[in-house]
This record gives sequence, C-alpha cells and structure tokens, in this order.
Amino acid sequence: MNIDIFPVLCNEKNMANYAYIIHDLSHSLTLVIDAAEAAPVASALETLRLKPDYILTTHHHFDHVGGNLYLKDKYGVQIIAPKNEFADVPGADIAADETSPLNLKGLDINILNAPGHTLGHILYYFPKSQWLFTGDTLFNLCIGGLFEGTPAQMFSSLQKIKALPDDTKIFPGHEYTRSCLPNTPEKIPGFAGYLQKMEQREQGKLAPATLAEEKIFNPYLQATTLSEFIK
Ligand code: ZN
Ligand code: FE
Repeated sequence: MNIDIFPVLCNEKNMANYAYIIHDLSHSLTLVIDAAEAAPVASALETLRLKPDYILTTHHHFDHVGGNLYLKDKYGVQIIAPKNEFADVPGADIAADETSPLNLKGLDINILNAPGHTLGHILYYFPKSQWLFTGDTLFNLCIGGLFEGTPAQMFSSLQKIKALPDDTKIFPGHEYTRSCLPNTPEKIPGFAGYLQKMEQREQGKLAPATLAEEKIFNPYLQATTLSEFIK
C-alpha cells in the first residue's frame, strides 16, 4: 500500500501531543490528524515537501487544534471536525460523524463517535491500513480523563474500539506511555517488546502498539461490564 504515516511530536515541553502526517501517494492526498501545534507540523510538512489537503480533528481541546488556523491560512486546508463540537473547533469546514464515513479523494476513512473525554470526541479509522487515531480517548496503557462525559459513555466508547480487528494499530493523541507504566513492568510476561516500542516512539520513530497489545496490557480495556469498569 502506498500510504505513509509520520508522527510529529508537538507541545513537547509539557503535553507531548502527537500530530500525524499521512501521505497517500495513490490518491495524491496529504492529511494531518490533530494539528496540535503550528510550528512543528509546518516544519515537518516542509521537510517532507508535502502540502496538506485536510486536517482531521478528533476533539476541540486547544492542544489538538493549535495549528488549525495557521495551516489553513498557509495551505488552504479543509478542516474536518466532530459534528457535535463543530463550533468549538477553530477553522472547522466539514462536520464528521459516525453515520457518514469519509471518502477523501478515494481514500475511505470511518468515523467512530466516542464520547467520554469530550462529548463530541470522534476517532478516525482507516479500514485498509487498519489504523485507528484515538485522540484523547485511548492512550497506550491508559485512557483520557472524563472532562465532559460519563464513565458509562467512556466504557461504551472503549467497547467500540475493542470490536475492531486485533491487528489495528493504535495512534493516540499523546505520548503518555511512560507515565502510565505499571510498578513492576519487568514481571509482566511479554511486556519487553511493548516497552521497546515505547522507547522507539520517544525517539520520534513510528512504532505503534496494536489493539491486541492494548487489550492485554491496558488496564482500562480489561473490564467487560460497566460495573467492573467503574471499580
Ligand atoms: Zn483532550
Ligand atoms: Fe489532549
């Protein structure tokens, strides 16, 4: 498949956000998922010699939309934003919702509504590549805080994620893995490979965890009922 993904670390001093640049050669399409901060995204685009066509925003928080207006002004990108928080996303042009999957210049992208962290939060799933962009819903080893939604909403959003193929690669909105590590990681069977990926990501490399790994290691994906989840 002729599609590449480049993680861009943003807000590096405090929040460790990810923006992701996606280049789909076969559809001559360039996307930015969560333009978290203008400068690092713009400079990565220049290095890659790419001009973005669309920004895909997962939710309205400032640390996920910081580059929207700058990139819109510079490249004339169209900004796709969650339907239920459209008005809160700077520069929003196109409303996205689970009921209407996207087709951008021939590339299919599915939307999952995932209320919890915010009420309108959406996830972007690329069915062909099996890539899931989880924003602040699912992180490696943890989940986003409940700023707007209820535990029940978050639980059902996580069940939706768990229903995707196990090979799905998880691309979260922050690199928070290290702060979510268990106390004695060396005692967990099979955890060494997962840790290696974390170290690679911290060096800016592309090393996503799979959904299968998160199902094993992420404590928030263990519960199968809401009451277990709330405990
Ligand atoms: Zn957030
Ligand atoms: Fe965030």
